[in-house]
Amino acid sequence: METYDALLASITPAEGAAGREILDPATGKVVGIAPVHTLSDLEAAVAAAQAAQPGWAAAGHEARSKALLAAADAIERNAEELATLLSREQGKPLNGPNARFEVGACAAWLRAAATTPLEPETVVDDGETRATLHYRPIGVVGAIGPWNWPMMITVWQIAPALRMGNTVVVKPSGMTPLSVLALATVLNEELPADVLHVVSAGRDVGARLAEHPAIGKVMFTGSTAAGRAIIRSSADTVKRLTLELGGNDAGIVLPDADPAAIAEGLFWGAFINTGQTCAALKRLYVHEEIYEDVCAALAEYARNVPMGVGLDEANLLGPLQNRSQYEIVDRLVQAAKDSGARVLLGGDPDPDAAGHFYPTTLVADIDNDNPLVAEEQFGPALPIIKYATVDEAVAKANALDVGLGASVWSTDPAAAREVAARLEAGTVWINSHGAVDPRIPFGGHKQSGYGLEFGTEGLKHLGVPQVING
Ligand code: NAD
Repeated sequence: METYDALLASITPAEGAAGREILDPATGKVVGIAPVHTLSDLEAAVAAAQAAQPGWAAAGHEARSKALLAAADAIERNAEELATLLSREQGKPLNGPNARFEVGACAAWLRAAATTPLEPETVVDDGETRATLHYRPIGVVGAIGPWNWPMMITVWQIAPALRMGNTVVVKPSGMTPLSVLALATVLNEELPADVLHVVSAGRDVGARLAEHPAIGKVMFTGSTAAGRAIIRSSADTVKRLTLELGGNDAGIVLPDADPAAIAEGLFWGAFINTGQTCAALKRLYVHEEIYEDVCAALAEYARNVPMGVGLDEANLLGPLQNRSQYEIVDRLVQAAKDSGARVLLGGDPDPDAAGHFYPTTLVADIDNDNPLVAEEQFGPALPIIKYATVDEAVAKANALDVGLGASVWSTDPAAAREVAARLEAGTVWINSHGAVDPRIPFGGHKQSGYGLEFGTEGLKHLGVPQVING
């Protein structure tokens, strides 16, 4: 693929085929036309993936890893075109931890999936009994993803699946199909035919993918509500599932923390991708002794971070990806204001803005049961809650039924780790929030889902364990 236009043309439906306009969330202008695939397109994709799977499995780890490494190179060859399309469709800026960063992460996760070792494990070998544990391909894996990090999360789902000898059918979010179609087009420059298919369709097709008898496993990332629906759809065929669901991550700032030193980390922990990140910091608990200082340092940092159209190189924050998410953020901030909470920054969206821009918003003096705290805002509005004792902060942090990530901020790492151990979250970061690493397992607690992604654990979740006893 040589140019942005060629990439876009390659995913545009043929003349006469069903298509749907995708609008730029920053400007309202048309980004491109997405195909509208049907249940019969899904059947065709699943059948083709099923037919290709035995050959892909038989190719072995080495050949599959080589193909994934070549696919990572293809991403890098097309990085600027992919980042431009991602920025226009999703809204995220090119710079900062946004579109170029996301495309770079796609290449990094492909390489990690290709090079992570997974040897058979000897479980018992005592002279009498010999048992070894192996991971065999599952078959065809369905991958259903969200609109916030559409390319990166698709790679998180498909790279380990392919490495383990499965073929994949992807159902991207209807909000960001172009990004995933373009990603797959680039990957398919290097992958064998039919090991990776994308079906660009609505929830009905997603629901069918989740119940399809030929699908052995569903990798799902999205809301907890849709995750529950997928559990139900997959029940009749007892599918394997990895569910990465919603979060409402707490951060706890201990009294010994240095407000000026942590302001930048707190900001990006909360506002990465303009707050539209599963494991972003969504509720901040600050000890009363340093509460005002942390609020002031955070507001000082936040007010200088530019928000605007993603293709403008200066911007680091963008619009909400869609109107319904904008309305959720607006409703939650309004609820906070109605309760008498103190708005430190933002909270005053321009109703005449062309795009779904919601200003960077910080809200102090807010109760733990306020909707802006208790519900997932998934946007650029952070509530800051004052606490008096660490026990109180831990109880409040653990009070919700989700637990994806959490963080503890302190100059004493040992004390922070003690608090971390008490938090009900799949990952607890110390003095940072939300940083993921392809070597380190990632997954949720409570209704944030189950199963692990990344690293050796992530590969194991894309295989069927088989014990050879004897
Ligand atoms: P969503 O649940 O609305 O949609 C996700 C995907 O599921 C889409 O492709 C959608 O078409 C599909 N879908 C919806 N209902 C379905 C059904 N019944 N059967 C099959 N497929 C169905 O989520 P979203 O709004 O796109 O994403 C935002 C949510 O995702 C947030 O809650 C966020 O926290 C979560 N998320 C979690 C992670 C994680 O790793 N845990 C990562 C990113 C986003």
